[in-house]
Amino acid sequence: MIQKLRATVLQILFPPLCGGCATPLLAGNKQEFCCSCWARVVFITSPLCLICGTELSRDVSTEDRWCRSCVQHRPPFDSARSLVHYREPVRTLLHRLKFNGDTRAVAGLRGLIEKGGNWRVIKDYDLIVPVPLFPARLKKRGLNQALVLARLFFLKESVQIDPSALKKVENTPAQSELGGLDRRRNLAGSIQAGPGAKLDGRRICLIDDIFTTGATVSECSLVLKENGAESVDVITFARASG
Ligand SMILES: [Zn+2]
Ligand SMILES: [Zn+2]
Repeated sequence: MIQKLRATVLQILFPPLCGGCATPLLAGNKQEFCCSCWARVVFITSPLCLICGTELSRDVSTEDRWCRSCVQHRPPFDSARSLVHYREPVRTLLHRLKFNGDTRAVAGLRGLIEKGGNWRVIKDYDLIVPVPLFPARLKKRGLNQALVLARLFFLKESVQIDPSALKKVENTPAQSELGGLDRRRNLAGSIQAGPGAKLDGRRICLIDDIFTTGATVSECSLVLKENGAESVDVITFARASG
């Protein structure tokens, strides 16, 4: 009784804040966002490209199919899927985790993972690999957001997550500052298999926060396959257009 009262008083004094716009949430709102932020969350839905996971036009067909880009040039990963579009309030939520090390954003991210369902392509993976950060960048940020997301995506599973399966050996400029072709050039040779990584014959799920051109996950997939991975399926939390 006293505990319940205490919780209510705390709720009134310090109401939980919306994960997107930081306005106080109404009492009884157990969601991570206020109503107007929730209305702006857009999950990725079919029809998708079977390979790269890009949303395709419903006018042509409602079935998942190959997009033109994958027909012309098949990417090095077997599939890529994302949970939501990279726009507000998701942008703020990921930003809080990535640059402010704000672990309270974790509840919001997990809530979205539980609500969205189009990110799983195959049922069983042998190994989950987060996209690595350059060690100095990791030290500065205090966490690798891809590792946090890997744990959230596979929270209820016993599959192994290996944050040292890949390593970033060059501190390349942030991908977000570059255009498409430069993104690919920027990364070439900057990622290697970690010492002692057991990749041979394994079905790997590669995790990152945002899929933009796919350059980062493509480079990681190449390295994983060069080191014997049987398959690489990519899951990113969000997808940016362009
Ligand atoms: Zn809000
Ligand atoms: Zn495609």
